[in-house]
Amino acid sequence: MSDSPEQKRDKSSQEWEWSAEEIKRVGYRVVDLIAHHLTTLPGRPVFQPFDPDLAREYLASAAPPDTGQNADAILDTFAQQIEPFPFGNGHPRFHGWVNSPPAIMGIFGDALAAAMNPSCAGGNHAAIYVERQVIGWFKRILGFPETSMGLLVSGGSMASLTGLAVARHQKCGFDIRHQGLQGSDRRLIYYKTAEGHGCSQKAIELMGIGNSNIRVIDHDGSQRMIPDKLDEAIRADLDAGFQPIAVIASAGTVNTGAIDPLSDIADICQRHSVWLHVDGAYGAPAILSTRYREELAPLARADSLALDPHKWLYVPVEAGLVLVRDAQAMRSAFSLVPPYLRTDGSPQGVGGLPWFSEFGFQQTRGFRALKVWMALKHHGTDGYRRAIEHDIDLARRLAEALRGAADFEVFEPQSLSIVCFRFLPNELRQDESALNGLNKSLLERMQLEGKSFLSSTVMDGKFWLRACIVNPRTSEADILALIECSREAGLECMKTITNQ
Ligand SMILES: *Cc1c(COP(=O)(O)O)cnc(C)c1O
Repeated sequence: MSDSPEQKRDKSSQEWEWSAEEIKRVGYRVVDLIAHHLTTLPGRPVFQPFDPDLAREYLASAAPPDTGQNADAILDTFAQQIEPFPFGNGHPRFHGWVNSPPAIMGIFGDALAAAMNPSCAGGNHAAIYVERQVIGWFKRILGFPETSMGLLVSGGSMASLTGLAVARHQKCGFDIRHQGLQGSDRRLIYYKTAEGHGCSQKAIELMGIGNSNIRVIDHDGSQRMIPDKLDEAIRADLDAGFQPIAVIASAGTVNTGAIDPLSDIADICQRHSVWLHVDGAYGAPAILSTRYREELAPLARADSLALDPHKWLYVPVEAGLVLVRDAQAMRSAFSLVPPYLRTDGSPQGVGGLPWFSEFGFQQTRGFRALKVWMALKHHGTDGYRRAIEHDIDLARRLAEALRGAADFEVFEPQSLSIVCFRFLPNELRQDESALNGLNKSLLERMQLEGKSFLSSTVMDGKFWLRACIVNPRTSEADILALIECSREAGLECMKTITNQ
């Protein structure tokens, strides 16, 4: 016999109505798992692939669970199957890509944000003010005017898409929201170097502009955009009757940490009335360091800027930030509220300030501001300065040690907290293709050994090992171990090469 409506209601409310005791009991188990994970990580392999049997099980086509399980069983499964196979970041010997460990207050912030679970589209509730405050802090850090606007987004990719879309809206010269790209045959042009991150290409393709309208500006030997080449390219496009929209400059490329000559680029943009978008997803937080403060000061001249708190500010993913100097332009690019109805909002009433959803693509938006807010409050800009300088110092120490070793080559110039290098045994010095092969197999061997973790990049046809230090828990010993692990793996791979 099936349940009466009354019985159904009872069952359902029992499932959804947890007592404070039960929330605490299960919650404390979660806290135990968090503490276990974070504190035992450094003693474990940096990386090991997901268990192949489990992988098969997870990928096998199966029905979703029809009956529910109790919380303890689910946490047991998490502890046995999921927690043992992390991505690797968080471990002091993980130096791959740009993936930092999570600031612990950020972890708690995420949990508390989920408990409150607001939508940060807008409204007059605390989360909105937390996000406003966080954005305000970043305006100060980066030298943006009070009147500018910003949003927390998923990451650098979304931040770039947002900034480049505002640029398109502002600079195209016609009503692109109404006519779309089909309303004009004017060619819209964007500028970047080959070292600029691929997310801007994705954004430009997604906006319907087509990657053939990206001018790839030459960079110099230090991987920095050559301003004269940019100027020439913009002039040529103007002469041809095309419409330059935006220059995408890098404040810390992902390959080598190169910082484009921002001040010169800003001058050129100003001269030709072209939008300047700066991709500081990785590097912008280095403005807090003594060493890069001056070089990054021209970030303040950007029209839009991307910075990832989930990278060098150690906030748990996902946390990206976009700032746009002209708040009205940002609103005009996205708002569905007609201009005559837009208000400045007020802290009284239900509506509150102008809604964030008017300034970007998303409607329902998570409370990601809380983890950023808590991490920044906990460490302060002083704490962040120390952590970032620690990473920069370690990278320089690593480069220095590698320069002193006869069997390694360092990519110069070393910048920010990235070091690219390769194993260069005497026997293979003249054989570029053998060196590439050797370093590739060395890398894979090292990654699977789990003692130290690097990623790689290719520049001018050469394969480089790449270490990016974004971890305040990484020590000098970890850095020296990285050299030893690379050498050992390299020598092992040499054996198989010479035995062939
Ligand atoms: C990571 C990164 C991006 C992309 O940001 P996501 O957060 O991965 O979306 C863009 N540019 C640079 C320089 C980056 O390091």
